[in-house]
Amino acid sequence: GRRALTRLKDLPAVTTDGVAVRLMANIELPTEAEAVLHAGAEGIGLLRSEFLFMNRPDWPTEDEQYAVLRSVIERMQGRTVTVRVLDAGGDKLTSASGTSLPDNPALGLRAVRFLLSAPQVLEAQLAAILRAAVHGPVRILVPMVANCDEIRAVRTAAETVHARLKANGTPVPETLPPIGIMIEIPGAALAADALALVSDFFAIGTNDLTQYTLAIDRTDETVAHLYNPLHPAVLRLIHFTTGAALRAGIPISVCGEIAGDPRFAPLLLGMGIRELSMAAGSLPRVKQRIRRISHMDTEAFARRVMAEFDPLRIAALVDEFS
Ligand code: PEP
Ligand code: MG
Repeated sequence: GRRALTRLKDLPAVTTDGVAVRLMANIELPTEAEAVLHAGAEGIGLLRSEFLFMNRPDWPTEDEQYAVLRSVIERMQGRTVTVRVLDAGGDKLTSASGTSLPDNPALGLRAVRFLLSAPQVLEAQLAAILRAAVHGPVRILVPMVANCDEIRAVRTAAETVHARLKANGTPVPETLPPIGIMIEIPGAALAADALALVSDFFAIGTNDLTQYTLAIDRTDETVAHLYNPLHPAVLRLIHFTTGAALRAGIPISVCGEIAGDPRFAPLLLGMGIRELSMAAGSLPRVKQRIRRISHMDTEAFARRVMAEFDPLRIAALVDEFS
């Protein structure tokens, strides 16, 4: 019952055969920080920064962004906070990213593409993050990366901003925080081995990865029944990406909706995932699931699932695993 789930808060997320899993939280608003601590998350694996830009006619200043990020970081009391830079466009914050709405916003000037086209917006956000990083461990996460050049360009911008802040005497960490990328474009997943060479970590965004892999608009009700992260194409992309990260020795997490669904935990663990980031409210049930499974079983299970190509059969296998 509920009390058993609450008691889980202080127990580790570890399988019956001793494999530890890092459970992190996704937040969309700073007010969620309390729930993150209450759920016993090890940190924030995805801070969606769009809220900073919403419901206002102008861009937030560096100082405004710094103040908000600092408050979240301080409330997390030394736990890692993964700040995703603005993911404008597509299904999010369409008014910020341009004057006219493109015909195909999901494939248009969004996220990192938009930021690289608006360097003053990117630099103000990076400056705010770097300044806030003095108050606790921070990682920078870049959404919708498809090309190595995009992550290189963001890193160069971060280095420039870092040098400028240091020269001004503004307190910033001695070195840049880790800069990682969302893997949420199928092409990025297929090029994960190349992207791993220029990224400090990966976070798989299975919401967009599913949308783009299956060509299903994630906001379109008429095709919602076809939206399926258990489609073998999506699973193969997750599997390949995870292997590429493990071979390159960089951390990898899953932060799409499936990370918060206990049904998916055995499959993701079996593929090699050791970090999941989810809505705080989902965390206790995922932890409970992990504490009841053996990692050795999940490896054999993942191999079995990966050999299947019927999505219905895969769903049945996932539901049968106990
Ligand atoms: C995702 O795409 O899976 C993801 C975590 O990001 P968002 O839902 O914010 O697009
Ligand atoms: Mg996404």
